[in-house]
Amino acid sequence: MKNIILFGPPGSGKGTQAVKLAEKYNLLHISTGDMFREEIKNSTTLGKKAKEYMDKGELVPDEITIGMLKKRVESSGDCAGIIFDGFPRTEAQAEALDSMLSELENPIKALILLDVDDEEIVQRILKRAETSGRPDDANEGIIRNRIEVFNSETAPVFSYYNSKELAKKIKGVGSIEDIFSRLSAVMDEL
Ligand code: AMP
Repeated sequence: MKNIILFGPPGSGKGTQAVKLAEKYNLLHISTGDMFREEIKNSTTLGKKAKEYMDKGELVPDEITIGMLKKRVESSGDCAGIIFDGFPRTEAQAEALDSMLSELENPIKALILLDVDDEEIVQRILKRAETSGRPDDANEGIIRNRIEVFNSETAPVFSYYNSKELAKKIKGVGSIEDIFSRLSAVMDEL
């Protein structure tokens, strides 16, 4: 099984590329951001709680996020692997993911970072706000907070997998197809 983490700051193109990779390599795409937005749409208790954090550009607490993700992974059934998009975002989430997957005897094969600089990200997300309808995309202060949270709380996840020699980095700038080719080259080597 090819279990992959697609990693990168908000607006780095993880969602777009994860959909394409899932199709090409027959992987199950799990996006915790999409799962939270679905819970919000359905006005669930979990959704209401998550929204308090998402609207400020903060991370939803680990115990909520890990519990939700674990249920999803356990009900994933037969697939050639999972592509994780937006998870793990803290070291505690990475440790929880590793222990979940080692129980299933299907560890993470690689974490791939889409490398994009902060100013490019702000511009991309403001542009995405025109069509995404996401409250956390529409305000520059919140976008900058999301980037800060990425740099302080999420970036250590790269080091965590790097120390296991599983972290790769590709340039996340260029056309969608260029970036997809770079990602496919990494996938084909795994
Ligand atoms: P995304 O769609 O991945 O940009 O996620 C949107 C928002 O959902 C984030 O800014 C967080 O508030 C929340 N979120 C998504 N995934 C996670 C996660 N793994 N841990 C904590 N919060 C998350």
